[in-house]
Amino acid sequence: MAGRATHCLLTIPKRGYSSKVDKNVAFLGLGNMGGFMAANLVKKGFTVKGYDPSSDAVKAAAKNGITGASSIAAALDGADALVSILPSNKVVLDAYLGKDGVVAHAAKGTLLIDSSTVDPNVPKQIYPVAIENGVGFIDAPVSGGTMGAQNATLAFMSGGRKGDFERSLPMLKAMGAKQFHCGDIGSGQVAKLANNMLMGITGMATAECMNMGIKMGLDPQVLLDVLNNSSARSWSTEVYCPVPGLIPTAPSSKNYDGGFKNELMVKDLELASGMALGIRSPIPLGAVATQLYRMAQTRGFGQKDFSYIYQLLKEDKQ
Ligand code: NAD
Repeated sequence: MAGRATHCLLTIPKRGYSSKVDKNVAFLGLGNMGGFMAANLVKKGFTVKGYDPSSDAVKAAAKNGITGASSIAAALDGADALVSILPSNKVVLDAYLGKDGVVAHAAKGTLLIDSSTVDPNVPKQIYPVAIENGVGFIDAPVSGGTMGAQNATLAFMSGGRKGDFERSLPMLKAMGAKQFHCGDIGSGQVAKLANNMLMGITGMATAECMNMGIKMGLDPQVLLDVLNNSSARSWSTEVYCPVPGLIPTAPSSKNYDGGFKNELMVKDLELASGMALGIRSPIPLGAVATQLYRMAQTRGFGQKDFSYIYQLLKEDKQ
């Protein structure tokens, strides 16, 4: 009997919490990713108030049904939940923990979802302050790029309390196709940085092996067909081949424009390197990849897709 009573006591608050229907969403960061993500929330029936210091971004979002807000506090007025997707560690920390920031203005019971790519220590700093103020907080970075944001096919990797993750699902499902709960707060960022470091390494490895084979006289299409039917197959060989003209939808076939910018790859590799350094996890390939993509950036190709690295390897005339 006592056991049954305990069970009831444990389940009632959980049901009460997770059955809350979140309809009013504040959105921070209406840039390349956030603009599409906020628009998809509107398409799925959410009411969205967006804040972005760029008036152009707010104007563009208004065309998709997002109401512009003049400050973080104004965006949060009446909100059940908040989604943010912002450029850097500093911007996220300021936006959440600053005097006029999210935690200071969110009503008790609000759920906060940060989809920016940042150091895992950033959500770990925000989380205890959010909980102390009676609001939920998860890190939920995304993979899938601007196409994924536009088509609502993003993969979300989340860290934080399971109940908060479950509560976020209607919003995450409106903006993406896959949702993972990776563990405690910050673990979504760990998964995201591991994914992007591997993507950077396989991209670089594909570029150098394709370049070597082509220089030895192989037909590029034949070499790619071999790789795609052999043990070296990867996302990079199947979807994102760095050699122009082989995969029409890959950025390499579109002058390396419109993909995942080299400068964003450098940002993510540097975050991954910092994380690895902190726990003394050896990342020899990650370190080489970081330096090569940084070199591409210092040579003026930061705005090109990261697969541009193939062109730099090809330049070697020896
Ligand atoms: P972006 O620069 O296009 O957009 C960021 C927006 O945030 C800008 O419009 C900027 O004005 C706004 N902003 C800055 N400070 C703000 C504040 N205090 N409050 C509200 N808005 C503010 O960048 P993006 O490409 O949309 O990337 C955003 C995040 O998503 C980054 O962390 C990036 O690493 C990550 N990401 C990007 C991609 C991609 O393909 N672009 C893919 C996955 C993850």
